[in-house]
Amino acid sequence: MNKLMIIGCGGVASVAIHKCCQNSEFFDEICIASRTKSKCDALKEKLEGTTSVKITTAQVDADNVPELVALLKKEQPQAVLNLALPYQDLHIMDACLEAKVHYIDTANYEPEDTAKFEYKWQWDYRERFEKAGITALLGSGFDPGVTSVFSAYALKHYFDEINYIDILDCNAGDHGYPFATNFNPEINIREVSAKGSYWEDGHWVETEPMEIKRVYNFPEIGEKDMYLLHHEEIESLALNIPGIKRIRFFMTFGQSYLTHLKCLEDVGMTSIEPIMYEGKEIIPLQFLKAVLPDPSSLGPRTKGKTNIGCIFIGKKDGVEKKLYIYNTCDHQECYKEVGSQAVAYTTGVPAMIGAMMVMSGKWQKPGVYNIEEFDPDPFMDALNQWGLPWKISENPDLVE
Ligand code: NDP
Repeated sequence: MNKLMIIGCGGVASVAIHKCCQNSEFFDEICIASRTKSKCDALKEKLEGTTSVKITTAQVDADNVPELVALLKKEQPQAVLNLALPYQDLHIMDACLEAKVHYIDTANYEPEDTAKFEYKWQWDYRERFEKAGITALLGSGFDPGVTSVFSAYALKHYFDEINYIDILDCNAGDHGYPFATNFNPEINIREVSAKGSYWEDGHWVETEPMEIKRVYNFPEIGEKDMYLLHHEEIESLALNIPGIKRIRFFMTFGQSYLTHLKCLEDVGMTSIEPIMYEGKEIIPLQFLKAVLPDPSSLGPRTKGKTNIGCIFIGKKDGVEKKLYIYNTCDHQECYKEVGSQAVAYTTGVPAMIGAMMVMSGKWQKPGVYNIEEFDPDPFMDALNQWGLPWKISENPDLVE
């Protein structure tokens, strides 16, 4: 009996839940547990009758560890798929330890009061997960997630050593709003307004936000401006890919998005420092989130494609070679299939696959692991099967 608890019922969770329901050969039951139970009930109502997977719902504040432990003991899932926000990661890991339930997430822990994300806090749980005999799979979205699996796959099948990785994340979708973010606005704006950084020769090189710009001709999309960002998978890939000399991450942004963001930053709307407003303390970025379009409302309006992948340069039998592995995804196709745009789709599908890998035992190993530490082959096959087919180019354009 394969039972999964999914925590959170936002954009990414909605896709993962649709996909679990499609995958009724594997999943017998899912419990959707989130802060606002009415959203879980609405999704259950929409999906019931379309699937043989049994769906239950529950209200939970994932930051309240005893409450979550009680729910886990009552529901007894084999694994928890954490699709709430990065702030909840450690509390959910604490609850999984106590209830002895496997843990899967898509984004590394970030303290709410500092816009800084790194794996340190979650890697500190390694010994406790080992002792409890349960697996934590970190970063099973697209980036991190699929990009890290692409890296492990390239290393396993194409290279003796990989020296350079450029991760390219292109969203060429147009939602028609002057300014909106494709996933949780607070998390998204914290990420893109932070300083950039990349890994080179064993250390981090820091840049100003959006300081490094390149233009790349993306397959199936065309030329787009992209900017170097700090991104979490760089930290674990730097440790797990032998022979690595440099890892960079680039994301595309249109000029209008950047102009709006700059203006919002200049007037203080992206700040996470609390301010007093009419006698009440508010955080400007959370207020901004409240006035921006809800990412889950972008689905019907977004047209165009995403292309996310990695360019590798390394050596095989002493000869230098290059390789590009990428996926393209069409916003409208995703909307037709699961009612969400491609950014949520490309994260929710690998989240479902990661849960299946752990629960099936293919990826079970007591401890805390990043996704590239497991055998990439069954995950790569599942991507083809579950809606994110990938392509390989052995002669890609390189990024300067
Ligand atoms: P949303 O804001 O749409 O959804 C978050 C959900 O979590 C909401 O349903 C929210 O409840 C719920 N939630 C928040 N706090 C709590 C809590 N304390 N207890 C219980 N539930 C809670 O976010 P997204 O779906 O856009 O993103 C989900 C995750 O996916 C994020 O961690 C994000 O960083 C990650 N992500 C990863 C990507 C990758 O490629 N690796 C790409 C994109 C996103 P409520 O409905 O009440 O607000």
